Amino acid sequence: MTGSSAASGPEFDGGSLPAPRLQPLTPDSSLTSALGALKAKALLKAFGFQTVNDLLSHYPRDYADREVLRPLNQLTPGANITVIADIVSVREKRMSSRPGTIVEVVISDGGGEFLLTFFGKSSQQWRLDQLRPGLRGSFSGKVTTFQNRSQLANPSYKTFESEEEEARDDPAVRLRHKPLIPIYAATAAETSWNLQTMIDQVLQRVGNLPDPVPQDMRIEHGLLDHTQAIRWIHSPDNPKQWKAAEETLRFTEAWVLQCALLQRHSLARERRTRPRVPTPGGYLERFDATLPFVLTVDQEICAAEIASDMARSGPMNRLLQGEVGSGKTVVALRAMLAVADSGGQTALLAPTEVLAAQHLRSITTLLGPDLAAELMPTLLTGKLPVAQKRKALLRTVSGQSRIVIGTHALLSDTVTFFDLGLIVIDEQHRFGVDQRETLRLKGAQPPHVLVMTATPIPRTIAMTVFGDLDVSTIRMLPSGRQGIRSVVVPMGENGALFGRVWASLAQELALGRQGFVVCPAISPAEIEEVPADLVGIEPSHGEKAGPLFNVDEVLEGMRGVPTLAPYRLEALHGRMTSDEKDRIMRSFAAGEIDVLVATTVIEVGVDVPNASAMVVLDADRFGVSQLHQLRGRVGRGSVPGLCLLVTNSRAGSPARQRIGDVAATLDGFVLAELDLALRREGNVLGDLQSGDGSKLRFLRVAVDGDLIAEVRRAAFHLVTGDPGIRTNEALRNAIARRLNDSERSWLNKG
Ligand code: ADP
Ligand code: MG
Repeated sequence: MTGSSAASGPEFDGGSLPAPRLQPLTPDSSLTSALGALKAKALLKAFGFQTVNDLLSHYPRDYADREVLRPLNQLTPGANITVIADIVSVREKRMSSRPGTIVEVVISDGGGEFLLTFFGKSSQQWRLDQLRPGLRGSFSGKVTTFQNRSQLANPSYKTFESEEEEARDDPAVRLRHKPLIPIYAATAAETSWNLQTMIDQVLQRVGNLPDPVPQDMRIEHGLLDHTQAIRWIHSPDNPKQWKAAEETLRFTEAWVLQCALLQRHSLARERRTRPRVPTPGGYLERFDATLPFVLTVDQEICAAEIASDMARSGPMNRLLQGEVGSGKTVVALRAMLAVADSGGQTALLAPTEVLAAQHLRSITTLLGPDLAAELMPTLLTGKLPVAQKRKALLRTVSGQSRIVIGTHALLSDTVTFFDLGLIVIDEQHRFGVDQRETLRLKGAQPPHVLVMTATPIPRTIAMTVFGDLDVSTIRMLPSGRQGIRSVVVPMGENGALFGRVWASLAQELALGRQGFVVCPAISPAEIEEVPADLVGIEPSHGEKAGPLFNVDEVLEGMRGVPTLAPYRLEALHGRMTSDEKDRIMRSFAAGEIDVLVATTVIEVGVDVPNASAMVVLDADRFGVSQLHQLRGRVGRGSVPGLCLLVTNSRAGSPARQRIGDVAATLDGFVLAELDLALRREGNVLGDLQSGDGSKLRFLRVAVDGDLIAEVRRAAFHLVTGDPGIRTNEALRNAIARRLNDSERSWLNKG
C-alpha cells in the first residue's frame, strides 16, 4: 500500500522535499506544521480546519472513475465542480473592448462538450502550451452562464500528462494515478484538486493513527484498522477499498458518538444536586387528591421514573415523549409540585409566546384556585408590558412564584431564580444542547431537567439526538378519548367529491363544533413553507400539475357554499402579525369563529377541545409526521374527530400510499418509524444536530438503526466500567475532538 510507513526512508526522502527527515504527523498536529503557514491559513479560511485530523476528516463526497467520465451536460450553473475530460480544441482570441486575450478551450467527455474560458491581460501562449488538444485533465471551478452557454471561467486544472511527468520526481503525484479520483466538497478558492494534493501530502507523513475502536471489537466486526480506513477513504485503488473504509468509518462514527453521549450522561449524573421529594401532606399530595381522573398506566410509569430520578442526588436528564393530549403536562406538573414541596421553583420553557400562555392557562386550571394562589404560576416572556414584566421578575427572584413559564426570554441574564430546582422544556426541537446548558447554570446547584416532546421520536433518533437523556414514553391516550376517523378523499378521480367534503364539514358544524381547513399556500403566489418532513422523500407531489390550494381562494370559495353560509369563517396564516394571529386564535378558542382556513401555522399551540373536524387540502404536500401533527388538533375533547385528507395524487402512487398510511393508524410512533423508513437519505435529522452538536458523516439514522443500537450497548458497557475512558486514550481524544467540533460549530453560528 502506498505510503503506509511515512518514516520508512528511501522512497520518501528520495523525493523533492529537501528536508532531511520530518516528524511523523499526529491527528492533533497543526496544519501549519504539516503544510506550511500559507496553505494552513487558506484551509482555516475556507473550512475552519486547524489540525491534521480536521483535514483528514474531510472525506471525499464522491469518487470519479478515470475511465467513466462525468457527464458534462448535467452541470448546473453555480456549482463548484471538478470534471475530468479531454481537451478537444483550443484557441486564443483578442478582446475587442480592452487589451488582453481570451483562451477558449472546449473539453469533452465523449457525451457532451463544455467551454472553458481564460482571461488574460496579455498573450497566454504558456497556457496554449499546457492545454493541448488530446490531453486529458481535471478541471475545477464554478459553472457560470455566459451568452446562454454554460462554462467554467478561469478554472484551475491539471492535465494528466503533466502530472505523469512530475510523477517521476514527486511521490505525492504518484497517488493520483490510481483509477479512482476522490472528489471533495470544495470552495472556489480551495478546489477539490488542491484538497486532494494537500491530503495526499499529509497522508505521506502520518504514522499510525490511533484507533478509537478497541482491537477485539474491530476484529469481531471485521473492520479495517483506523489508519488503513483513512488512507483508503482518501485514496482507494478500487471501489472495494473505499466501501470497506466507509464501513469502518461508519462504525467508528457511531461508536465515538455513543461513547460521547453516554459519557456525558454519566458525568451529568455524577454532579451533585439537591434531591427533590414531595413532603407528606404537601402540594403534590393535595393535587393528587383533587385530580378528577386517574392517571393512565403509562403516566404512572413515567411519573415514577421522574420521581425516582429527582430523589437522587444527581440531576435528572430525562426526555418525556407522548403525543399531544397524552397527558404529559399532568405528569410534568406533578414533578413541579414535588419541587415546590422542597421549597424550589420550576422554569417551564415553551417555544412560542402562544404556547407559553396556553401552558399558563392549563396549569392554572389543573392546579385549581387554592394551589394556584399558593404557587403563583407566572408568565415571563419578552412581550410583556414593562410593569407586568417587572412584577414577574420580582416574583421569580423572590421565590414567590414556584412555577415560572416563559419563552427563551427566561434565558436572559436579567432573570434570576430564588431556588431553581427543575427545568421543563417543551418541544425540545427548538432548543439546542447549548440553551439547555444556559438554563442549567441558572440554578445554584444543577437543576433537574425534563424535556417534553409531542413528536414521537423513532428509537434510533432518540439514541442519536437525545442519547445523553433517559427516555420515558407515554404511548396510550387517556381513555374517554373518542379518537379520530381519518378518510382519504381522492379529488383527482372524482371532482364531485368536493361538495361532499363541505357537506361533512357542515354536518360537524351543525352539531355546534368547530373545524379547520388546512391549505399548503396562503395565496396563489405564496407557499407557506417547504414541509420539512418531505425532505428526502421522492418528489411525488410533482405529479400534480396546476396550482396548490391556498387560503385566500379557498376561503372565498367556501363563503359561496350555501351549506356553510351560516358559519363564521376566518383565515389564519404566517403572513399575519403575531398579534393578529393571537387575536384570531383567541376568538376561535372562545367559539366566536367556526372554521379556521389556515396554513400549517396551526400545527403548534392550538388546543381547542370543541374542534372536531379537519380538512387537509393537497394532503400529498405534507409529510407523514406533519399530517399526523395536524390531525392531532382535532378530537382533543370528548367529541370524536373527523379528518378528511383531500388529494389529487393518483391511486397507487407513493404519495397516495403515504396518505393512506396516515389515515390507517393513529399511533404516532408507528407513523414516526414509517416516516423514517420512507427517507432514503440521512437528512432525517433536518435541523436537528446529532446529540453533541456536530453533523453525522457516514451514519444514516434511517438505515443504521441496528448498528447504532448494538454500538450503544457496547458503549454503555465501556462507560459504566470506565466513565473517564481512561483505558482508551485514542477514544478519549476522539471524543474530545468531536466536542471541539461542536463547540466550533456553535461559535460559528454566533
Ligand atoms: P399533553 O401535555 O401531553 O398534550 P395534557 O397533559 O395537556 O396532554 O392532557 C390533555 C388533556 O387530557 C388535559 O385536559 C388533561 O387534563 C387530560 N388528561 C390528562 N391525563 C388524563 C387521564 N389520565 N385521564 C383523563 N384525562 C386526562
Ligand atoms: Mg400539553
